[in-house]
Amino acid sequence: VGARLKAIGEVGAGNADAAGSRILVFVRLRPMSKKEWEAGSRSCVKIVNKKDVYLTEFASESDYLRLKRVRGRHFCFDASFPDSTAQAEVYGATTSDLVEGVLQGRNGTVFCYGATGAGKTYTMLGTMESPGVMVLAIKDLFSKVRQRSHDGNHSIQLSYLEVYNETVRDLLSPGRPLLLREDKQGTVAAGLTHYRAYSTDEVMKLLQQGNQNRTTEPTRVNETSSRSHAILQVIVEYRSMERGSIVTRVGKLSLIDLAGSERALATDQRTQRSIEGANINRSLLALSSCINSLVEGKKHIPYRNSKLTQLLKDSLGGSCNTAMIANISPSNLSFGETQTTLHWADRAKEIKTKVLTTANEEVLKVPDSETDQAKLVLELQKE
Ligand code: ADP
Ligand code: MG
Repeated sequence: VGARLKAIGEVGAGNADAAGSRILVFVRLRPMSKKEWEAGSRSCVKIVNKKDVYLTEFASESDYLRLKRVRGRHFCFDASFPDSTAQAEVYGATTSDLVEGVLQGRNGTVFCYGATGAGKTYTMLGTMESPGVMVLAIKDLFSKVRQRSHDGNHSIQLSYLEVYNETVRDLLSPGRPLLLREDKQGTVAAGLTHYRAYSTDEVMKLLQQGNQNRTTEPTRVNETSSRSHAILQVIVEYRSMERGSIVTRVGKLSLIDLAGSERALATDQRTQRSIEGANINRSLLALSSCINSLVEGKKHIPYRNSKLTQLLKDSLGGSCNTAMIANISPSNLSFGETQTTLHWADRAKEIKTKVLTTANEEVLKVPDSETDQAKLVLELQKE
């Protein structure tokens, strides 16, 4: 609970009151790329005290040297990560508490959001040498489950899917598009592969393979599409004997690498018009309208407007712990995109999610005479 509560506490006690808890919002700045250096770009983002983000624009190089700003804005988030921040630190601050909650039968969601090239996939998936949030979360789950194995038995299942052009595809077993349907656990993709996971190395390989299966733009076959959303869901089921009953808790962790937000989330009138003819990502637009409606406290939230928002229904407005990581580039060449990303991140801070007082839990009372037998069944399931 530590970091999460601490983060809420620092922002203001009002946010952690009984009426609701809000989405935690983080910003991660990536290092300047070689390409950006070569294009002569300057840094327009400064992160101070791991919280404050200063975005400034300079009209010319001489203005830059004289530190004469043209436009500037200050933002403050639950935590802001400078470009030197290690993957493990990002994981620890954004996701590790959610993983703890999942083990107790609570849902958790983390999504990465930002323009193409801003560092979303690096943050979520990472590389073999520097694994990202998805892999670190699963590693952490494995080690926590191992520590608790004497109390009961756990099963960890994962699925990895993509939403591209309003089509849902299984990334672990590519094939026909999947249909969405509602069931008591929320929206599910019918026929999606649920992979029973046993080790971290295996999972990393699986996810990298899955990522290769992401749809590529016909014109840029070597690049994964900037318009595809990838969702990893990890379902942890825990079964134990507690005071003569079999208790089953189910927690769901969703880790989401969103499509590039450029174009789709333009905010001002001018850009709004210019994107009309472009290929707009309907799911991202729907996500921004859901965020708007949630912030405004509207009764009706338009989840059904897109596949992504349907899938995220119980992760945005429901009883879920949610964290959002906004990824940004330091380069002044991406000033507009960075400004838009920070604007949405700032707005997302206002989303309230319902506080979950009870976990997803099922208690099955076992008559005394059968307690030993039930224990035996649990033991056998461990095999
Ligand atoms: P996106 O998924 O948002 O389009 P990527 O995650 O693919 O962007 O990042 C673009 C490039 O920048 C990749 O080559 C990636 O390895 C690199 N990169 C992104 N974030 C970082 C970081 N924090 N540290 C080092 N390299 C990074
Ligand atoms: Mg990517």
